[in-house]
Amino acid sequence: MKIAIIGAGFGGMAAAYDLRKAGHDVTIFEAAAHVGGLAAGFKEPHWDWSVEKFYHHWFASDKHMLGLIEELGWSERVLFPRPYTVVYHQGKFYPFDSIPAALLYPGLGWGLDKIRFGLVGLFLRITNNWKPLERSTVDAWMRKWAGKRVYESMWLPLIEGKFGPFAKQVNMAWLWARLHARTTRLGTYEGGFQAFADQFAERLQQMGVRFEMQTGVESIAPVDGGLELRSKESVEHFDQALVTTSPQLLAKLAPQLSADYLRGLLELQSMGAVVMTLALDRQLSEQGYYWYNIPKSAGFPFLALVEHTNYVSARHFGGDHIVYCGDYLEVGHEYFSLTDEELLARFIPGIQRVNPAFDRSWVKKIWVHKTNYAQPVPLVNHSHNIPDIRTPMPGLYFASMSQVYPWDRGTNFAVEIGRKAARLMGQSS
Ligand SMILES: Cc1cc2nc3c(=O)[nH]c(=O)nc-3n(C[C@H](O)[C@H](O)[C@H](O)COP(=O)(O)OP(=O)(O)OC[C@H]3O[C@@H](n4cnc5c(N)ncnc54)[C@H](O)[C@@H]3O)c2cc1C
Repeated sequence: MKIAIIGAGFGGMAAAYDLRKAGHDVTIFEAAAHVGGLAAGFKEPHWDWSVEKFYHHWFASDKHMLGLIEELGWSERVLFPRPYTVVYHQGKFYPFDSIPAALLYPGLGWGLDKIRFGLVGLFLRITNNWKPLERSTVDAWMRKWAGKRVYESMWLPLIEGKFGPFAKQVNMAWLWARLHARTTRLGTYEGGFQAFADQFAERLQQMGVRFEMQTGVESIAPVDGGLELRSKESVEHFDQALVTTSPQLLAKLAPQLSADYLRGLLELQSMGAVVMTLALDRQLSEQGYYWYNIPKSAGFPFLALVEHTNYVSARHFGGDHIVYCGDYLEVGHEYFSLTDEELLARFIPGIQRVNPAFDRSWVKKIWVHKTNYAQPVPLVNHSHNIPDIRTPMPGLYFASMSQVYPWDRGTNFAVEIGRKAARLMGQSS
């Protein structure tokens, strides 16, 4: 069959890999000039490694991604350094990424609250039965089982930071999935995620996959038992197509989808993200911490501060120290329209709360990356709202971050759903 894939992110490339191996004629259309999608990176001329536009790492439990890398024969390029994650409590940051660190954390006191926090965490780690959890909000479930103090100091900041106005509507299965599927060990690829994406694209090309880069597909319509894909550059017919973009974009590309399916796509909610990357002339975190979790209530201008070079060495970046300041925001938030310098001016007081000595003169260069589609929002009983990978338009398939539920979005799940879509497409040949 002649198959089109829209999007050269990890979902699209994983699908292309399996479809090509099964003997299909595969073309990937990618709007950007590079592969990798949301996990793509960028590189200065004096850097050996790329830096992801949006901070990225893998968990040791990311079996679909790590399994794919193993199949490709590149496992020796996956690295699992030991970074330190800290949480904020009354003006200070404390390590919180191991059982001893959690035991020593002062934010929960030393008595019942810590025991409740531990027991709830243990239950969520052990149970596989997430379905009943999606009937409650995190807010209601955690208040009941972990208690007000544990919930408000440990979990509320996380969901407020990620989901803003939706925080109190997010369902408990989302938090279950985060605790269930994540590890304290964090992995990356030698050279950065972009190096892996480029290597993967090169392999796909060697296998015979055609890449049409900088080619945004503008419409998909059913014709003569197949599909017609239009871009500015061309009109081409395919037997099948897989779309890996946001649900909103699919609705725009294929308005002839059934009204029900279109409504389902348009009702899905998501948050955008704005992430600033700074190259500094020196280390920011005096303690060498990698990931700072910051509650919105503490008045910081961002949700997370991540010193990438406390995870991988600054020598890969010509001695530059790489720091991210990021936030999940509703599209239309003013951060989307500020200039890079205006945003930096907003962020500086927050960076100085991490290291009071920080000064603008430490900053060698900044980059700001923005996306409208960063984090799907799972509301109560969300499993009923997930669009089917097989759309009602014959031959058209859809595999996006919004469908990996109950899992949270991630490259691991992009690979899983991309490969699942490839299996379904292959079956109908
Ligand atoms: C702030 C942030 C932090 C994250 N952190 C992590 C992390 O630590 N670990 C992790 O594993 N994951 C993380 N993720 C999630 C991860 O990036 C995504 O889950 C994954 O990259 C999704 O892959 P995908 O292929 O489904 O979609 P995408 O990567 O979004 O790929 C879709 C592709 O489609 C292209 N496209 C769009 N429109 C068109 C069109 N009309 N025609 C042609 N092409 C088009 C886009 O340019 C893009 O390349 C993070 C995401 C964000 C935003």
